[in-house]
Amino acid sequence: MTEILIKDAAHVVTMDDARRELHEVDILLRDGVIARIGHGLGTGHGLSAGGQVISARGALVTPGLVNTHHHLYQTLTRAVPGGQDALLFGWLKTLYPIGARFGPEEMRTSALIGLAELALSGCTMSSDHLYLFPNGARLDDTIEAAAQIGLRFHPTRGAMSIGASAGGLPPDTLVEREAAILDDCIRVIDRHHDAAPGAMCRVGVAPCSPFSVSRELMRDAALLARDKGVMLHTHLAENDEDIAYSLEKFGCRPGQYAEDLGWTGVDVWHAHCVKLDRAEVDLFARTRTGVAHCPCSNCRLGSGIAPVRAMRDAGVRVGLGVDGSASNDAGNLAAEARQAMLLQRVVRGADAMSAREALEIATRGGAEVLGRGAECGRLQEGYRADLAIWDVSGIAAAGSWDRIALLLAGPTQVRDLLVEGRQVVRDGQLVTLDLPRAVEAQNRLAAKLMKA
Ligand SMILES: [Zn+2]
Repeated sequence: MTEILIKDAAHVVTMDDARRELHEVDILLRDGVIARIGHGLGTGHGLSAGGQVISARGALVTPGLVNTHHHLYQTLTRAVPGGQDALLFGWLKTLYPIGARFGPEEMRTSALIGLAELALSGCTMSSDHLYLFPNGARLDDTIEAAAQIGLRFHPTRGAMSIGASAGGLPPDTLVEREAAILDDCIRVIDRHHDAAPGAMCRVGVAPCSPFSVSRELMRDAALLARDKGVMLHTHLAENDEDIAYSLEKFGCRPGQYAEDLGWTGVDVWHAHCVKLDRAEVDLFARTRTGVAHCPCSNCRLGSGIAPVRAMRDAGVRVGLGVDGSASNDAGNLAAEARQAMLLQRVVRGADAMSAREALEIATRGGAEVLGRGAECGRLQEGYRADLAIWDVSGIAAAGSWDRIALLLAGPTQVRDLLVEGRQVVRDGQLVTLDLPRAVEAQNRLAAKLMKA
């Protein structure tokens, strides 16, 4: 039995059904699960002899943040000059040839960096969308990286099958045969997907986007995912070019396309959805389809502001995503949550989204989108021990009247992070990775890519 007692937390945001906020409480973690939340816990009062104690005196404790959309490999293509000021399609065309030079080492190292960055910003669970597999790269490379960092991981097996010669956007060298794609989806699900409670790895199926795979692959992917009991993920309705492509090639809007091919439901989440119209918002609400909202990426690529207020009011399940580091270019999930809050205010006024609601989307909301709402995203007895401890005694919150409004007055980096009751960050430092060495390896690989 492994026990940790989080002692004397000044403020605790539970995100339970009553959205309780507690003060001066202790949280007992036992074997990866939140065993008790209460006052005066300690040795003889919940904690057995030999249990570890972590002081949270003066600190804020929240559920771990959940990242619902990323392309970890892109941490190696930050601030690429040709892509800095391009719209989505031009940006993609700049990035594809660089991605074609990746291999297993690039995939693994970039994932270590991306996941480390997320962990330091309070993230305990992340999905990833990997859709190119050049030079022997495999989804397994990123899964290894996540196991090393210790984050709960939802990798998705992406794919592109329509190259430029067939009217698609990616170069022919980066596309795969559709039969091979489906075979590899089956392989990675059988090898890595864990359906059990508390799972640290759940695999999803994720053709890259409606403009890089065929209608048949979209449909077959949905059938395969349902047969295997795994989730479905892709990009949808990201910007005006995306909508125009859908109308021209498919004769319908993205929502209709998704619905026709089986891409709606509680087991589906779509990234971006910036351009969903009223009927599509209602469709997503009715079918319980999830959305990964990526505000910084949407700003960076000038795609627009997703109608998150309308989605939430209609009952659409919304989580947050930092998106790939080629279009953000940062991977700080706490900063992303703040951006989500600010953008809705730009459109709908200062009361459009509170700091508490943005934090809810970043925690409980994300867990629900990834199908983990019954065990993650809340600080509640019986839930997994995924939590972030924020030092609110430093400069970022100095003078704050409301330490729980974390997204108004920082910090955006955690003091401590625990996943499944295991410490990933301690006193602001990763304990699972030699970070300076990983950064050096990453910069070496980036320099090699720049030269090629
Ligand atoms: Zn993306």
